[in-house]
Amino acid sequence: MLVWLSSARPQYGRFILLDRDGVLNVNRPDYIKSLAELNFYRDALEALAFLERNGVGVILVSNQSGINRGLIEWEDFREIHEGVIRRVEECGGRIQAAFYCPHRPDEKCECRKPAPAMIFAACRFAGIAPAQTFFAGDSESDMKAAENAGCRGVRICRTDGEVTTGLCAPEEPNFPTLLDAVSSIYGKGI
Ligand SMILES: [Mg+2]
Ligand SMILES: [Zn+2]
Repeated sequence: MLVWLSSARPQYGRFILLDRDGVLNVNRPDYIKSLAELNFYRDALEALAFLERNGVGVILVSNQSGINRGLIEWEDFREIHEGVIRRVEECGGRIQAAFYCPHRPDEKCECRKPAPAMIFAACRFAGIAPAQTFFAGDSESDMKAAENAGCRGVRICRTDGEVTTGLCAPEEPNFPTLLDAVSSIYGKGI
């Protein structure tokens, strides 16, 4: 598990956990391999600014198996990560921490979603209980990870023709964008 923390003790009363690719930025079937391939959804940047204004700390929880598949260079991975942090801040948001799994599925690690280890680590860092925490992701494995960690999964199912990772089950709480999701969870005060 790769961990990045912006500070040792974030000063937020509430937190939300977010998947990265497909939630903040347009996903690619061949992975986000360089900063040039990082394209944010405009509404996601607005959502992050909304969360910051409303005192909700944001923590990323992301599978990045492209690293151990040998498709993402460390240098590029670092650049992408820093690009995410910077772009979010330019738009009024903030990210408090990021947890990444670099492993391939065949490595059978303990951190790759749908395993709950990264969510547990994020909750420990934030000092929150999984049961009181939302985790928003775009894929089936995100929802499974939320279930495995005992937190509340929220599925982002974009309908604007971008790459999606599967169809949403009708019984899942789901929203077409991250902005819709966080407005619904934390109120409409945009
Ligand atoms: Mg995703
Ligand atoms: Zn892992």
